[in-house]
Amino acid sequence: MALKMGQSSKVAVIGAGTAGLLTARELQREGHRVTVFEKADKVGGTWLYSSQVESDPLGVDPNRQVVHSSLYRSLRANLPRQAMSFLDYPFLKKEGGDDQRSFPGHEEVLRFLEDFARDFGLMELIQFGHEVIRVELVDEVNHEWVVESKTRVTDSTWESKEEVFEAVVICNGINTEPKIAEFPGRDTWPGLQMHSHSYRFPQLFENKIVVLIGSGPTAFDLVREISPLAKQLHQAIRTPGFMLIKPENYDNLWQHSMIACAHKDGKVEFQDGSVVDADVILHCTGYKYHYPFLKSDVVTVDGEHVGPLYKHVFPPSLAPWLSFVGLNYRAILFRVMELQARWVAKVLSGKAELPSQEEMASSVEKLYRELEMTGRSKHHTHRLQNGEVEYVSWVAAQSDTRFPRRWEEISFNTVVKQVLYCGEDYRDAWDVDKWIQEIDSSD
Ligand code: FAD
Repeated sequence: MALKMGQSSKVAVIGAGTAGLLTARELQREGHRVTVFEKADKVGGTWLYSSQVESDPLGVDPNRQVVHSSLYRSLRANLPRQAMSFLDYPFLKKEGGDDQRSFPGHEEVLRFLEDFARDFGLMELIQFGHEVIRVELVDEVNHEWVVESKTRVTDSTWESKEEVFEAVVICNGINTEPKIAEFPGRDTWPGLQMHSHSYRFPQLFENKIVVLIGSGPTAFDLVREISPLAKQLHQAIRTPGFMLIKPENYDNLWQHSMIACAHKDGKVEFQDGSVVDADVILHCTGYKYHYPFLKSDVVTVDGEHVGPLYKHVFPPSLAPWLSFVGLNYRAILFRVMELQARWVAKVLSGKAELPSQEEMASSVEKLYRELEMTGRSKHHTHRLQNGEVEYVSWVAAQSDTRFPRRWEEISFNTVVKQVLYCGEDYRDAWDVDKWIQEIDSSD
């Protein structure tokens, strides 16, 4: 559908984390009328650390009080700040600032996002304390979307309201709904099971025999943090991924294949045949896509995949009036979100054009076929990694955005390569400034 150049739409953005803030800024720049709904009382999303944890440490009880952020107290970014900069808003080390590190602590990332929101006048667009509970297309012809949100009035009462928008951009984050490992005996195993979403600090594991499932960045951090306190630490790994940890550097760490089954007497058996009498199973197994508020027959969400989405952003038959920003992973995410946000804003103002609905749908089908042909599950749909540079260039081109050549050099894969080279202490061992200088001078 062709939009009029310079068209201004009334747009709802759900969430004021990195994706929501970037989207609000781009929409505002394009002259749209923007309302951001944010259930918390501050910006930052994931980067808004909370010492609070959920009542169900595994995060499976649908009636639990959800805590949004999955950060642990000690968390430092796993990407250098240069890779978390926005195009025209670099994440600089502040003179005299509290945290000058290339891999800053979470408080510094939050400060960066707060500064960004303030400097671009985004705070005024945000309705804090408003949780969106329903997004529904009520008039297909005029593309009218109802956004229903609730806000707390007293400790026990809520008030809800409905508002109509022409377009909705979903930016509610992908790191809140735990995905847990499946194995026989899991539900009757007598010890403590928790997901890393509810992990804050290691004291709980003192003198315990711990089985930690996973090998991603969180598993890496938590192995290092828990092992000095635990009696024994057993890491169950499905596919060697982010294998920075060398068990020979630890005197109480063993690595195993996945759990074969858990027994009622507390024993945990691994597929490699070894058995341990464990106290705790810690699932560092990632998160599921979750959109409880989205009432749509068009968009399917199966936990690890959302679709159909043209280039991870627009459902073809609802484009451009519904979009998603920030679904991807294994990429330099802030950059991907910024470009997706800009694309959405420009499409809505008629400055960028989408292909026909049929063409978008066939592009999605093509991606699914490619996944199938290369033996990857549909659950890898939104994982960029090897396709990151190509995708970033493609999205940038949609909004005529030029980016520095260093962006082609600094990708998820090149960062991982450096991290593996620097080893377990990569955050302090890697001279990132020098690396960037070398990249820039090779232009
Ligand atoms: P979020 O930051 O999750 O923000 C979503 C927002 O939506 C939240 O404010 C939430 O309150 C709000 N919201 C949700 N549902 C509703 C609703 N129904 N109504 C209203 N508001 C709602 N990325 C990096 O680039 N570098 C790192 O070092 C890094 N480390 C990470 C470490 C951990 C442990 C985790 C979990 C993630 C890490 N990430 C990192 C990825 C990180 O998630 C992204 O960087 C980014 O913060 C995601 O932004 P987002 O806006 O998509 O989601």
